[in-house]
Amino acid sequence: MKIIQTKLNIDVPRNNKPSYIIIHHALAKNCTIQDVHSWHRSFGWAGCGYHYFIDKRGNIFTGREENQRGSHCKEEGMNYKSIGICLEGCYQEHKNQTEKQVPKSQLESLTNLTKYLMNKYDIGTDRVKKHHDYAVYKLCPGNYFPWDKYIYMLSQNKDNIIELKKENEKIQEENTRYNKILSDIKVELDKIERMIQDGTNT
Ligand SMILES: [Zn+2]
Repeated sequence: MKIIQTKLNIDVPRNNKPSYIIIHHALAKNCTIQDVHSWHRSFGWAGCGYHYFIDKRGNIFTGREENQRGSHCKEEGMNYKSIGICLEGCYQEHKNQTEKQVPKSQLESLTNLTKYLMNKYDIGTDRVKKHHDYAVYKLCPGNYFPWDKYIYMLSQNKDNIIELKKENEKIQEENTRYNKILSDIKVELDKIERMIQDGTNT
């Protein structure tokens, strides 16, 4: 997973202790992290309120640093205990911006980034939330965002890792068994070789 360092130099306190991950959309069909940065500055904020931004091609950009407090979800003190990820796009009915499909590469990048952060901060899928879960007056990240599929993808990947581990353990066991058989055969072969040598020597 490649993360593009944007270096926005946002001057806010480093008092964020992430134990939630909150997903947003930009409510704009086409935009960049720089657009978001200047929009948020125009609100009088220090700059881009999110920690990450993912464009529709699946490129991941840094916003605020992970330990810096966010400006993306003021409810329940979430700006001090979460990582905010924003997607380029508008996945709800809104002016002429509406899109009903989240591009596959964007959803995949979001899944990879979320999984990375879940591992890093020991966050379970029950703490991966929509902005809407806290700001009920908003639809963010949009009613067209495939939430169930996304949560499924997060757990699916985890299962895959467990499966792979089990598979690997099985292979290791087989290897140990074969090595034992091989060394038994070698002992027998040595014996036979010695018997032949003894035979030719006498
Ligand atoms: Zn939002």
